[in-house]
Amino acid sequence: EQEVAEYRKSLAIRVSGFDVPRPVKTFEDCGFAPELMRAIAKQGYEKPTTIQCQALPIVLSGRDVIGIAKTGSGKTASFVLPMIVHIMDQPELQKEEGPIGVICAPTRELAHQIFLEAKKFAKAYGIRASAVYGGMSKLDQFKELKAGCEIVVATPGRLIDMLKMKALTMTRATYLVLDEADRMFDLGFEPQIRSIVGQIRPDRQTLLFSATMPRKVEKLAREILSDPVRVAVGEVG
Ligand code: ADP
Ligand code: MG
Repeated sequence: EQEVAEYRKSLAIRVSGFDVPRPVKTFEDCGFAPELMRAIAKQGYEKPTTIQCQALPIVLSGRDVIGIAKTGSGKTASFVLPMIVHIMDQPELQKEEGPIGVICAPTRELAHQIFLEAKKFAKAYGIRASAVYGGMSKLDQFKELKAGCEIVVATPGRLIDMLKMKALTMTRATYLVLDEADRMFDLGFEPQIRSIVGQIRPDRQTLLFSATMPRKVEKLAREILSDPVRVAVGEVG
């Protein structure tokens, strides 16, 4: 415990919450299956980044997490890798069900980047991912979602359009990620986020990641997440 405390202090890591799982030092420590370990190695990821060392074991334990770390620190894999494990633990989707993992991001570009990262790890398992954002044909997106997928990466506005069109249902969604929450807030997506969260079952696991944590974002996080562990790396939040 002392060792963990000193390690965190030396890296400017602040963790708060009850019964927080210990950080990992390697991807092996996460207990990932061989297929996933191979996909990680294929990406050239040799060891987890600082935020990944802290967040991976907490997210894998099923807890809600507020993760704060600067851009480029590897936040995406902190929620994408455990999402793959989460999906593999769920019963298979039936026809017209899905998704299980829902990721919201503020812009097309960010949603697309997350989508690409998710696909790299999902591929090994035949897990399907769809990107849902503006600028693509709604009809094509509707058809793709109707065919079923385990993961949806979306901007909030387009996801709400698709929900209204009944292109997807949230009955099986149990893993929700709000990425770049500060930017979603700045772009005025708070009502859309609340609407999406309100359509997802309360027994979900919820993760909120951000590069900064203004008070209003922290407040939203506390409303939407249950008993979260808060992990902040560096001079942020
Ligand atoms: P953030 O979301 O915090 O801005 P990203 O998740 O986009 O950061 O990651 C930034 C870059 O670091 C990406 O190019 C990603 O592929 C790379 N990366 C992530 N995790 C690792 C790792 N464990 N080892 C090496 N590179 C990594
Ligand atoms: Mg990011």
